[in-house]
Amino acid sequence: MTTLTSKDIVRALKPLVGDGGALLADPLEMKSYLTEPRKRFHVPAVAVALPGSVAALQAICRWANQHRVPLVPQSGNTGLVGGQVPLSGTEVIVNLSRINRVREVNAAAGHMTVEAGLILEEAHKVAEAAGTIFPLWLASQGSARIGGVLSSNAGGVQVLAYGNARELTLGVEAVLADGRLYHGLNALKKDNTGYDLKDLLVGAEGTLGFITAATVKLFPIPEAQETALINVADPAVALQLFYLLRERAGSRLTAFELMNRFGIDLQLNYGLLPRDPTASPSPWYVLAEVNRMKGGASGALQAALEEALASGLVADAVVAESEADRTLMWAAREQMSEVQSKEGASIKHDVSVPIGAVPQLIAEGSAAVERAIPGVRPCPFGHMGDGNIHFNFSQPAGADPKAFMAREAGANAAVYEVVRKLGGSVSAEHGIGQLKSALLRQVKDPVALEMMQAIKAALDPNGILNPGKVL
Ligand SMILES: Cc1cc2nc3c(=O)[nH]c(=O)nc-3n(C[C@H](O)[C@H](O)[C@H](O)COP(=O)(O)OP(=O)(O)OC[C@H]3O[C@@H](n4cnc5c(N)ncnc54)[C@H](O)[C@@H]3O)c2cc1C
Repeated sequence: MTTLTSKDIVRALKPLVGDGGALLADPLEMKSYLTEPRKRFHVPAVAVALPGSVAALQAICRWANQHRVPLVPQSGNTGLVGGQVPLSGTEVIVNLSRINRVREVNAAAGHMTVEAGLILEEAHKVAEAAGTIFPLWLASQGSARIGGVLSSNAGGVQVLAYGNARELTLGVEAVLADGRLYHGLNALKKDNTGYDLKDLLVGAEGTLGFITAATVKLFPIPEAQETALINVADPAVALQLFYLLRERAGSRLTAFELMNRFGIDLQLNYGLLPRDPTASPSPWYVLAEVNRMKGGASGALQAALEEALASGLVADAVVAESEADRTLMWAAREQMSEVQSKEGASIKHDVSVPIGAVPQLIAEGSAAVERAIPGVRPCPFGHMGDGNIHFNFSQPAGADPKAFMAREAGANAAVYEVVRKLGGSVSAEHGIGQLKSALLRQVKDPVALEMMQAIKAALDPNGILNPGKVL
């Protein structure tokens, strides 16, 4: 890589950040850009560049490519696999938060073009102000930004109905490693003019280019949502319920989230919920939501639930009667991860399997980890409708957190073995970053890895973009 010193790099980059840009080299000023949500990675950066425009970013890339200076793309710094923070300490973080304009909103045609640094929640507000929705909702939406959301191909709580970031994106604009600008912004639903470069850049985790803007899809605002928290005996019953609801509601079924009683009890114990949002105690619950569109019939969820209750598939359920009820139900789901950290250490996996295999994943994965770590408390939850489970395990009650985490590799191996057997993925939504790059080499098809390496070498021959991440 480069023979330049940190001082040389800072001196050269300072004039390149452009109007409204900044270059930070003071450790205190850089701190918030280096601290990621899970606090797992603690490697310093040479500097943090905040370009003020796309042209400034192009100048930075051109210079860095010439001088072989590694760059780490960053937007909101909420990624969970360390993709947006340094790996070797020789990198410059390039944060796109200052490239954050709304370029165009066309509500009638159902798309808008926004820049990479726009906060996801701001994008929601822009869509809503135009009478539409941009249906990508994540717990990190107050900090995550469009560039990072697309680069990690984030999937929110309504992937079931609207798809993940890739499916919501029509076109992207990107700066390549050598500073060239890829003009891929378009609003085309159909475009069969060769390889889909947009699909390559979305989900590339900053290894192929900087996404600077995107044209994304907008949808009509639903008139109302029906939300219910439904008792299910086990994940196999949840699967039957999913099939029933999908048949009755089709694409209006926007969420189908699984959680267990253990996680609800923890939230009640730690005062995270003002009251129990469930109908009655049950080992498992499903949070289901169905949209009602303008002029559409109401009560689809209620009717399907009555059918499930009459057939004995489910024993009890509560339907939200107010926005406050709905908010409480969603809080119970969204706080699952947070509450586990209050209960000590936890070992986490973000995995997916074909939907029909979710019950087997949970049964076999839990049994395997319980054998490896007696007393461990499984807390699987998440987007069951997408086959995506956050397969988390809380430490045995009263155990030493450090001793528990020392056994993480064994627990990971046990879970990934089951995932592999069921034809699943070891990273459903959080990506690979630096956390799972060694794992990717073990589990990915060797030919797929060679294809990915060839693409990387073609687009970033000097390897300056997020080196060591993903591949
Ligand atoms: C509380 C919480 C809840 C979360 N919930 C979800 C969830 O439900 N679903 C989900 O999928 N994820 C979730 N995440 C993970 C994370 O928030 C998302 O992946 C988010 O999309 C990342 O956006 P960001 O702007 O913070 O990206 P960053 O963290 O800044 O970056 C993420 C990755 O993208 C790259 N990158 C960033 N900007 C660019 C750019 N402009 N061009 C090219 N590459 C870039 C980075 O190098 C890195 O590899 C959650 C995280 C937290 C903390």
